[in-house]
Amino acid sequence: MAESCSMSEIPSSWEIYQQNVAYLPDAEMEIMAASTSLPDPAGEFDRNVPRICGVCGDKATGFHFNAMTCEGCKGFFRRSMKRKAMFTCPFNSDCKITKDNRRHCQACRLKRCIDIGMMKEFILTDEEVQRKREMIMKRKEEEALKESMKPKLSEEQQNVIDILLEAHRKTYDPTYSDFTQFRPPVRSSEDQRLTRSSSVLTQGFSSEDSSEPFGSSPDSVEHGMFSNLMLSEPEESASMSINFSPLTMLPHLADLVSYSIQKVIGFAKMIPGFRDLTAEDQIALLKSSAIEVIMLRSNQSFTLEDMSWNCGSNDFKYKVSDVTQAGHNMELLEPLVKFQVGLKKLNLHEEEHVLLMAICILSPDRPGVQDTTLVETLQDRLSNILQSYIRCRHPPPGSRLLYAKMIQKLADLRSLNEEHSKQYRCLSFQPEHSMQLTPLVLEVFGNEIS
Ligand SMILES: [Zn+2]
Ligand SMILES: [Zn+2]
Repeated sequence: MAESCSMSEIPSSWEIYQQNVAYLPDAEMEIMAASTSLPDPAGEFDRNVPRICGVCGDKATGFHFNAMTCEGCKGFFRRSMKRKAMFTCPFNSDCKITKDNRRHCQACRLKRCIDIGMMKEFILTDEEVQRKREMIMKRKEEEALKESMKPKLSEEQQNVIDILLEAHRKTYDPTYSDFTQFRPPVRSSEDQRLTRSSSVLTQGFSSEDSSEPFGSSPDSVEHGMFSNLMLSEPEESASMSINFSPLTMLPHLADLVSYSIQKVIGFAKMIPGFRDLTAEDQIALLKSSAIEVIMLRSNQSFTLEDMSWNCGSNDFKYKVSDVTQAGHNMELLEPLVKFQVGLKKLNLHEEEHVLLMAICILSPDRPGVQDTTLVETLQDRLSNILQSYIRCRHPPPGSRLLYAKMIQKLADLRSLNEEHSKQYRCLSFQPEHSMQLTPLVLEVFGNEIS
């Protein structure tokens, strides 16, 4: 405390300072010397006290060789000491040194330097200067090495990420406002009122509609009316659906899927490099990846609270039971929900989410792809960006094995895709169902009846 107190007084007036120094006991001198040899810690000084050179009164730049001085007097003192210069005053050895006349009498200027406490011991020898320089150089080199070892996203990689984020934001509306334009969702409870069909069927629906949380009673669904209908012969189910069509959610979900396909196409077209592919390869990639990307992007609306896809209002909140009412069964839905849960728990950044979708689309091993080399090059680039991104931007522990887990998700999507195709084929065999689909869905997923 005493030390900082005396220091704050130092620059206020060099005359007082001069006195202080003159009567300072040696021990106190040492404390000051030690503290003032540090790089000037500006924050330690009272900001209201002007920093004035103790020698000439010019603006001081900090403590130099143990005293508050300007750059000019600092240099003068060092040069004089190095040369072991002996000056003589042409006047009376009591010249008053000012900013303007400080060059006129070197003898009195040097005397002032010593009077205010400047010490030659604080001047580094050439050897010390050299050593200090080398140390600074070495530290800089070490820092540069550390910096170069640190994984970094290149400007180009960041650029690709920005493009993908933009592409996703342009094609994914988190308000889901367009959903009102689809054919409306009809759920089995409404269905009950609408249909005058057999009590056996309606019972089947209402038990399903009570919809326990997913996983608690998959059997009741699996062996429910829908899967029976799905697995039965086309003619049989066709005759049944003359009286009653159970797939009440099909029109709405068909429109939703059709809409999503359009958005996935829009997203794909904005992936850097995608447009360099031939039209045939673009189509082949989109046809086979569309459902996987739809499953991926739907994770944004998926909620772990009640295992549903929540797209705004209650009308557009989709439970597993809703999807069964569009013709799918638990063979698809159980692993699909499992997939959604697993993906959600990865807590992907939006950057990782969009990269994963792009990587999924640009898979060279899709059926019908001609220029596999080009697709592979594009996919490799995206994979590298994803890996760099995780290393640079995803903090642990979330980043642990994250890339591997994401790639595993792509493998899961392949089997989901396969199961979806199976069930879709089954559905589209039935004209009364395939007529509910849209031309785009039929084109992308295939039209069995044509
Ligand atoms: Zn000065
Ligand atoms: Zn003089």
